[in-house]
Amino acid sequence: MQITFWGVRGSIPTPGPETVQIGGNTSCVEVRAGGAILIFDGGTGLRLLGRKLLNEMPVTAHIFFSHVHWDHIQGFPFFAPAFVSGNSFHLYGGHNVSRTLEETLAGQMDHPSFPVHLTDMSSKMTFNDLFEGQIVELDAGVAGQTVRVSNSRGNHPNGVWAYRVDSDGRSVMYATDTEHYAVVDPKLLRLAWGADVLIYDAMYTPEEYAGIDPSAGGPKTGWGHSTFEEAVKLAKAAGVKKLVLFHHDPMQSDAAVRDKERRAQLLFPDCVAAFEGLTIRL
Ligand SMILES: [Zn+2]
Ligand SMILES: [Zn+2]
Repeated sequence: MQITFWGVRGSIPTPGPETVQIGGNTSCVEVRAGGAILIFDGGTGLRLLGRKLLNEMPVTAHIFFSHVHWDHIQGFPFFAPAFVSGNSFHLYGGHNVSRTLEETLAGQMDHPSFPVHLTDMSSKMTFNDLFEGQIVELDAGVAGQTVRVSNSRGNHPNGVWAYRVDSDGRSVMYATDTEHYAVVDPKLLRLAWGADVLIYDAMYTPEEYAGIDPSAGGPKTGWGHSTFEEAVKLAKAAGVKKLVLFHHDPMQSDAAVRDKERRAQLLFPDCVAAFEGLTIRL
C-alpha cells in the first residue's frame, strides 16, 4: 500500500511564501492498494493528482468524499482525467437526506458559478451514497487480493464520514474534519483499531482551539475540528502505529505546522505533519 498527500490544508487554499514547504492545496490523499487507485477527497490537491493520472490512462479510480464542504470538492471541476472518455470513476459519499453526492458535485458546476457542467465530463461516473457501516469491497487488481473500505460518521457541521482501507494485511484510516468529545470518540476508536496509519484532523493547537492564543480569533468549539493532542489520544487508544496530522489551519505557516508536529512527536514519536508530496509506503 502506498499513501500520497496532494493537499493537506483545511478550509481554503493558502498559497504564499509562508506555506511553500507544507503546501497550500486543500484535502486530497491518494491510496494505492495493489492495482487499485483510491482517492480521499477532492480539494484543490486533486487537480495535481489529476495531472499525474493523465499519464496512466485509461484510468479507473474510486473517489471517497468525507463530506462536501468546499475544501473537499473544489478540485473536482479541475480534475482533468474526468473529462476524458474511457476513464472510469466510482464516487462515494455519505448518504444525505437533502442532496445526493451527484447533485452536490453538479451544483458546484452549475452556471453562473462554473462554465462547464458535470454532464460535460466525458468519463464514466457512478455515484454511491453510502450508509453508515456499509462496506465497499474493491478488486485490488492482484490475484487473491481485495480492498475493503469501511466507514463511520464523525462529528462535524452537516456531517462527515471517516474511512478505513484494509488490503493485504495493511490498513490506513482517513478521518478529517471531526471534532473530539470529552472522551475518545467510540466510533472512530473502533474504526481506527490497530491501523498502521491514522490520518487525522489536527487543525488546531490546543491553545488555538480554546481561544487562548489571541491571534487565533476566539475559541473554535463547535466548528467541527480537532487538535494534535486529541489526535494523539485517539492514536494511543486505538494502538495505531503511525499518526499523520492533517487539515492544517490556513492561519498556520510552515513554522507553525512544524512546531505543532514537534509538540505532537513529544507525545507520540511516530508522528508526522502531512505536507504536499509526502508518501508513506506500507
Ligand atoms: Zn475541511
Ligand atoms: Zn468541513
